Amino acid sequence: MKPSAFEYHRPTTPEEAAELLAELGEDAKLIAGGQSLMPMLNLRLAVFEHLIDIGGLTDLAGIEHVSDSVVVGSTTSQAAVGRSTTVLETVPLLSRATPLIGHFPIRNRGTLGGSVAHADAAAEYPAVALTLDAEIEALSSAGRRTIPASEFFTGMWTTALRDDEVLTKVTFPIREGRWGFAINEFSRRKGDFALAGACLAVKVDDNSRVENCSIGLFGLGSMPTRATSTERSLVGCSIDELQVRDVAHSAVSGLESVPADLHGSAAYRTRVGATMVARALKNALEEATDD
Ligand SMILES: Cc1cc2nc3c(=O)[nH]c(=O)nc-3n(C[C@H](O)[C@H](O)[C@H](O)COP(=O)(O)OP(=O)(O)OC[C@H]3O[C@@H](n4cnc5c(N)ncnc54)[C@H](O)[C@@H]3O)c2cc1C
Repeated sequence: MKPSAFEYHRPTTPEEAAELLAELGEDAKLIAGGQSLMPMLNLRLAVFEHLIDIGGLTDLAGIEHVSDSVVVGSTTSQAAVGRSTTVLETVPLLSRATPLIGHFPIRNRGTLGGSVAHADAAAEYPAVALTLDAEIEALSSAGRRTIPASEFFTGMWTTALRDDEVLTKVTFPIREGRWGFAINEFSRRKGDFALAGACLAVKVDDNSRVENCSIGLFGLGSMPTRATSTERSLVGCSIDELQVRDVAHSAVSGLESVPADLHGSAAYRTRVGATMVARALKNALEEATDD
């Protein structure tokens, strides 16, 4: 299949891209790496009269360490994120999530901003952004605004981004102290989207108690979610007394829209999700206490 005819636009600045979005309205769509949009256009699941290609906008590419955070420009390829020693040393969860995305050719063209904006419920980067309380910057012809990840993902492939906004960068806070990070997922074949997955960020204090904890779930609903009540219940617990299996079951209990399809029932995915939380928690605690 080929996409239906469209007019191709290649702005030279992010501002020009935003102006084009404002001018062309709902008939226009941004394209970055094309790894999600092109299959949809080819299958005619989506049709747009105008494609605005921001993939070559160098203003939006790059990884920068700015005081207590790392800023990743939206058109930075997933492969560049995976190669970055800055990301590896400062936001290890983002680094560890990267090789789990599809295959190398996909990561070579796919962008961090495209992945976050596309907001697939089973995608790794949206779950990482949510787990780490990242901030997302949006640009329109009216100016810029910052959206916390907790308010960004609103449903299946939907976000708080307006149709006239360009996602310009994602800011990941750097966590200092005895933190451990892990991402675990299960997919039927290497490179497939995860059936279920979990991101963990845990901080342990000098008395071996949990000081802070974030649990992000993906593939287990219409969008990535945080297991907030389980996170709260862990704070103050001695890590030697933690019942990892109980924590894992608590994290996935009460999920309301676990998908069911030919790859697995909702009950199966929920069980897999609990196992992923248990593995990620064990891995993150090991890292946090590896002095
Ligand atoms: C076989 C295959 C396997 C895959 N497996 C995985 C996987 O395991 N995990 C995973 O996470 N992903 C997976 N993907 C998706 C891939 O990671 C995509 O690259 C990513 O989802 C989108 O990035 P992109 O730059 O290609 O975006 P595009 O395809 O160009 O765009 C996707 C959407 O985001 C919008 N968009 C893009 N950039 C911006 C921006 N800066 N501001 C506003 N809106 C924007 C577009 O308008 C479009 O709606 C897979 C893809 C394929 C083909």
